[in-house]
Amino acid sequence: MSFQIDILTAREYRKGLQADCANCFGLCCTALHIVASSDFAIDKPAGVPCPNLESDFRCQIHSELRGKGYKGCTVFDCFGAGQQVSQTTFNGQDWRESKQVAEKMFSVFPVMVQLYEMLAYVTEALSYQVPQDLHKELTLQLKELESLTNLDAGSLLDLDIMELRMPVNELLSKTSSHIRSSITNSIPGNRVLDYRGADWIGKNAKGKDLRAADFRGAYLIAADLKDTDLRAVDFIGADLRDANLEGANLSTSMFLTQMQINSAKGNKQTKLPSYLVQPYHWAS
Ligand code: SF4
Repeated sequence: MSFQIDILTAREYRKGLQADCANCFGLCCTALHIVASSDFAIDKPAGVPCPNLESDFRCQIHSELRGKGYKGCTVFDCFGAGQQVSQTTFNGQDWRESKQVAEKMFSVFPVMVQLYEMLAYVTEALSYQVPQDLHKELTLQLKELESLTNLDAGSLLDLDIMELRMPVNELLSKTSSHIRSSITNSIPGNRVLDYRGADWIGKNAKGKDLRAADFRGAYLIAADLKDTDLRAVDFIGADLRDANLEGANLSTSMFLTQMQINSAKGNKQTKLPSYLVQPYHWAS
């Protein structure tokens, strides 16, 4: 296999995996079933456009989403799956032109979001200094995922996403262990912080040194992580809703997504990995 991806290219690749709403047919505002909650003001059935969606697929309340009860819309991120489905899978065909296209496109969108989420994790893993064998396995996995994202609609709907996730999870876990153990070895006492799936809801961990901790699948809802050192922490699948990240250092945290960051609280002093941006609502 001649294809190889270097660390800088992988970083740029990961950075590019973000929504381009101008090239999407409003799929997240139409395809998904959303139940009314404090995150979304109304019940919206799958396949029905949100009443706030304009004919050019812009949101008519974009600047006031939080104030109007649509906080969840400022959190969601498709990793770029929306434009892939709109422009590649369906070749730029507007779902409003055909009921059949609409139904298929809305079913394909959630599948593509999951493929793109895996792509994001794998490209991030490739941006780390890992042993050559692992790098090779990650590269092969990346190629496989890329080819899946280019399948036609019918083949995408036939995919078993759970099965596809297994080898990906294994590679991400190996990457995480490698990176975290190299950091742990440099910390006096070599302490290991294993908080996988932990319940840290509302916990006060303000100012703590949590470098290289494993928070896979942990519940950090409303946890106080103000001024906390979270470098090299694995956050895959962690629930960070309303966690206080003001002044926290997440500059080298692993497997964080824009959605996790959008759902948390932070400020200008919060340091994020280079592929993520500070949500505009942090400023207010
Ligand atoms: S409120 Fe706006 S962003 Fe949210 S689903 Fe509706 S149109 Fe989309």
